[in-house]
Amino acid sequence: MAYIENHCRMVSRTTDDYARMALTGCIAVTESASWPGYDRLTAEAFDDYFHHLTEVETARAAKFGIHHYTWIGLNPRESENRKLAGRVLQLIPRYLDHPTALGIGEIGLNRVTRNEFDTFVEQLELASDLKQLVLIHTPHMEDKDKGTILTLKALREHADLPSDRVLIDHVEEHTIEPVLDAGFWAGISLYPVTGSSPERGVDMIERYGPDRLVVSSSGDWGVSDPLAVPKLMREMRRRGHPEELVRKITFDNPARFLGQSPKFDLRHA
Ligand SMILES: [Zn+2]
Repeated sequence: MAYIENHCRMVSRTTDDYARMALTGCIAVTESASWPGYDRLTAEAFDDYFHHLTEVETARAAKFGIHHYTWIGLNPRESENRKLAGRVLQLIPRYLDHPTALGIGEIGLNRVTRNEFDTFVEQLELASDLKQLVLIHTPHMEDKDKGTILTLKALREHADLPSDRVLIDHVEEHTIEPVLDAGFWAGISLYPVTGSSPERGVDMIERYGPDRLVVSSSGDWGVSDPLAVPKLMREMRRRGHPEELVRKITFDNPARFLGQSPKFDLRHA
């Protein structure tokens, strides 16, 4: 069964990962513009990175029959550097015009600092001015609650964005409800150590889903599993969930959210 990998940093993955994802039914992947594991020092480094996301990965994925789409934005961690943020934000609109760029992301909070918050609000305003879809990261571990509350406050007070055009990612059992109650899409990350296991993911789908809910591996340069979505599909089937529900969570829902951008088009898949 075909599925969409809704958040995986393919720049950090090997070509073998594309092959394995294609074999398990992945037909499209969206990549969030993220922290590469170190803080970049110049805006030029982001120029190269956005070029990589919009050109290089698209071609690499196409060799395996996978549509590669990307988000463009300044990630929460590097948002702390306000001087750099000012320069990177100037680059963003040009890359958003690219035919595979679906919106602004991932943006948001990491350590929940004043600087991160200010950069976050600026990017929300940019998204609202340019009528873009938005992908928001929420902090891991002990900062998640505080970060999610402030994220929802920023969306309420600083941005004129329709709630169904915003996906708040990396929700957990204690943050999923306020996100869904506020009308936003919620993303579950199936990420070892700091995220959910496929089993916890299915528990949340059973308790809160399946509407406005998507799942992803959040695969990146760390210990992570780009096949986490098919593993969740297997767990759903093991528990006896119908194929329509498996398809809704792993294909129909992401296609509905991403399809709000006219650029997202799987007709030639
Ligand atoms: Zn993230």
